[in-house]
Amino acid sequence: MDDQKINRTDIGELGEFGLIDRISSRFKLNRKDSLTGIGDDAAVLDYGGAPVIVTTDLLVEGIHFDLMYQPLKHLGYKAVIVNLSDICAMNAIPKHITVSIAISNRFSVEAIDELYEGIGMACNAYDVDLIGGDTTSSPKGLTISITAIGSVAADRIVYRSGAKPGDILCVTGDLGAAYLGLQILEREKQVYLAAPDMQPELSDKKYLIGRQLKPEARLESVRYFEKTGLLPTAMIDISDGLASDLMHICKASGTGAFIEEAHVPIHDEARTQAMEFRMDPITCALNGGEDYELLFTVSPKDLEKVRFMDSVYIIGEITPKSDGVTLHTSGGQILPITAQGWKHF
Ligand code: ADP
Ligand code: MG
Repeated sequence: MDDQKINRTDIGELGEFGLIDRISSRFKLNRKDSLTGIGDDAAVLDYGGAPVIVTTDLLVEGIHFDLMYQPLKHLGYKAVIVNLSDICAMNAIPKHITVSIAISNRFSVEAIDELYEGIGMACNAYDVDLIGGDTTSSPKGLTISITAIGSVAADRIVYRSGAKPGDILCVTGDLGAAYLGLQILEREKQVYLAAPDMQPELSDKKYLIGRQLKPEARLESVRYFEKTGLLPTAMIDISDGLASDLMHICKASGTGAFIEEAHVPIHDEARTQAMEFRMDPITCALNGGEDYELLFTVSPKDLEKVRFMDSVYIIGEITPKSDGVTLHTSGGQILPITAQGWKHF
């Protein structure tokens, strides 16, 4: 017994990223057609012709979603979107998905119909075909695993690793709203549990709740890049929060970066809600998750092309690694950014 105790490491000690590093250190890519494996938003495979881009995500009831406030149709839609977003983050076009579900007997056929209605809406909206999956029972709750497959010309793949000092840091939309939407839904859940007859007044929170329950993938940005020939030097989708995802770009690229607080886009509704919760709006933008905007870098020579993009914000710059990753506050301070991300364990 004592020996076993000595060898037991709590997963919380490694954290999510530490655990992924540990897994990836065991596996080398041995095949010539495996261009990129673990470590980016998606893997890149070369079967001749345009490379194939593959990503997968797992959503677990009670961890990633709560059916008390997430309608199944929205859940189905979102489960597809989070995968399409990772394909877009490679500058690729999503084309196919597989969907696997584990369901407990708490769910009816009609409930599963609702889930697939949402999945179908996302497939239609993004011109993606569902091509397979797996169905099994679960002792408790609902688990959804989706794999998305896409493709892009070899010379247009964008990795996390291509940013260079002097590159401009851009984001495709406002940040922090999805996190605040989640906080509102959590609060209303507690209110409901305490007093089920109370009707929540959420009409002025539509934007925030929408950002949490029905996110979109920024496929139109990928299409814009294709049309204009603009090629970002690095890209990632913001699923864990701006701070954490910028750190991924900087780590993979071997650079530092700074963000100008005053330039980080935050929706008015998000700003107001953050104040109401007595939170700093910039903290919500940096550390809130699930915005599913694209964070990308471009060479300074492409500045004009970026300026013409709809809803793209220039929020900072890539610097040498020795400068670290920092926030230039509106008050003139320079603060180090630490990746909080989400602590699953
Ligand atoms: P994202 O937030 O873009 O979905 P993740 O942080 O989930 O990315 O994953 C980072 C990288 O680690 C990806 O390349 C992913 O494929 C890989 N990865 C995550 N979990 C595992 C695992 N259990 N086994 C192998 N690779 C994994
Ligand atoms: Mg990603």
